[in-house]
Amino acid sequence: IQRTLALIKPDAIDKSPEIEKIILEEGFTVVDRRRVRLTRAEAEEFYGEHRGKSFYNSLVDYITSGEVLAFILAGDDAINHWRRVLGPTQVSRARHEAPGSIRARFGNSNNDFHNAAHGSDSVNSAQREIRFFFPDLTLE
Ligand code: ATP
Repeated sequence: IQRTLALIKPDAIDKSPEIEKIILEEGFTVVDRRRVRLTRAEAEEFYGEHRGKSFYNSLVDYITSGEVLAFILAGDDAINHWRRVLGPTQVSRARHEAPGSIRARFGNSNNDFHNAAHGSDSVNSAQREIRFFFPDLTLE
């Protein structure tokens, strides 16, 4: 059993009931959930690995444009499983390569990078991102 951090981004928050349905249908267990609006400083920390990149400011604008919904998901191979359910980073690619994926279905057709949801990409980032959103949680 592995844990990952799933994040529904601001532009998809209205679709969260549909996305949650997919989460459950895929067999994940929702360990915890939190709806929160990130401050700019928090968003800059969360996306710290992208600091200095050309898209960093637009990424921070995007993720602070409204509330996000964070989930701790648990399951077998949860990190890779969730990323498969998300589909490719770019919405247009997701629509071509994985039409049933969350990014294909709920991403913004006018902006490839407004891609509806996020998932941790490694065991280390999952641990960091879960602590970021759920600092009070103690997991064994
Ligand atoms: P996420 O971390 O959100 O799951 P990812 O791991 O598929 O996405 P990353 O390369 O880590 O993709 O990029 C993080 C996020 O930054 C992307 O989801 C997207 O919203 C945004 N992003 C990535 N590349 C660009 C870019 N070239 N221009 C604008 N935004 C970008």
